[in-house]
Amino acid sequence: MSHRLVLATRNQGKVAEFRRILEQLAPGVIELIGLEEFPHLEDVEETGSTFEENALLKARYTAQLTLLPSISDDSGLCVDALNGAPGILSARWAGVHGNDLANVEKLLGELQGLPDSERGAHFTCVAALAMPDGREVVEEGLFYGRILHAPIGDQGFGYDPIFAPTGMDISSAQMSAHEKDAVSHRGKSLRAIAPQVIQMLEGLG
Ligand code: IMP
Repeated sequence: MSHRLVLATRNQGKVAEFRRILEQLAPGVIELIGLEEFPHLEDVEETGSTFEENALLKARYTAQLTLLPSISDDSGLCVDALNGAPGILSARWAGVHGNDLANVEKLLGELQGLPDSERGAHFTCVAALAMPDGREVVEEGLFYGRILHAPIGDQGFGYDPIFAPTGMDISSAQMSAHEKDAVSHRGKSLRAIAPQVIQMLEGLG
């Protein structure tokens, strides 16, 4: 029997990514449903000051209103030379939510002239599970690398074209989805939380 789990996002790319990773870990165990099945639910405002707070806000709100176990994630890019910025503001760093090109341009401008040794950065992802009875689990995944001097590659999204994973000479926009899942912040946080999600769902009978 498969267990229903709501993913607190309207982003179809994210639903596909979660489904791919969960299905690989536990085939047939989880039926992941996105928020498109709950059109009446309003989007929750990300008012937290950390990735964890924002991930929990979304999962909690969705579990309370759907009465189903709910999972969410919050992620972003933290640049050493900018004291961890853009961090939780990654999606709207250049002002407009989700304008990847403008975000990349702004970040490259801020790091202009800095040598490779000062361009360290990491992606963070916090995955959160909230059960309708109030139980919660969070897991964090980190993906280390450096910021390139110019964009390259056309896979992925967001800051991928200017992020070179540690030890690699390519950007994460030059990796296939499967290659990136294996080392990425989102892949790591999902693989860490998945066994706990499955245990809780199976405990519900
Ligand atoms: P959210 O977790 O959907 O709120 O995404 C936050 C933002 O962080 C995205 O809009 C991207 O700008 C950035 N980001 C998070 N994960 C990645 C990634 O894997 N590659 C590139 N950018 C990312």
